[in-house]
Amino acid sequence: MQRLHAKIRDIPDFPKPGIIFKDVTPLVKDPAALRLSVHQLLHPFLGREITAIAGMEARGFIFGSLVAWELGLPFVPLRKPGKLPYDVQSVSYDLEYGSAMLEIHIDSLDSGDRVLLIDDLLATGGTAKASCELIEKLGAKVEAIAFVIELDALGGRDKLHGYEVHSLLHY
Ligand code: 5GP
Repeated sequence: MQRLHAKIRDIPDFPKPGIIFKDVTPLVKDPAALRLSVHQLLHPFLGREITAIAGMEARGFIFGSLVAWELGLPFVPLRKPGKLPYDVQSVSYDLEYGSAMLEIHIDSLDSGDRVLLIDDLLATGGTAKASCELIEKLGAKVEAIAFVIELDALGGRDKLHGYEVHSLLHY
């Protein structure tokens, strides 16, 4: 894991003053580190009954689609409003200031699906909680949620109470 920690770059005051952003681009730029992170993300789920991988825009697409590729499973994108071209289900959720929305194509999952949800980073948990709601609106089950990074102090794991949550790196 030291190898992955070394590939996460702190960017002070991004996207606004006072925030230290964890930048994963050095990790995805390094093929060995990217491969290691994808294998670590999927490892707990080998042999488990998972039928689809879902990932949140935008960095969840990178890690989620690579996990889907490795496991030979469908990838389902969860997107910001107005980006998906077909009929969607939507959910809105609170941010520190204001609110945000995520959408999913209504035909991307059904009631038999057991979904592994993937994103790069767990902060307050709002994005992941909203994603679980979307998946469940389509009748599918969230089997587990896996992140590359978890910011422990922000309590996102508490917001995801009742879900199986895995993270590779903790800060
Ligand atoms: P949450 O909803 O848990 O507060 O925020 C998590 C979402 O915001 C994730 O989709 C994640 O990509 C993004 N995010 C928030 N802070 C950071 C950060 O410091 N680094 C990265 N890479 N993503 C972040």
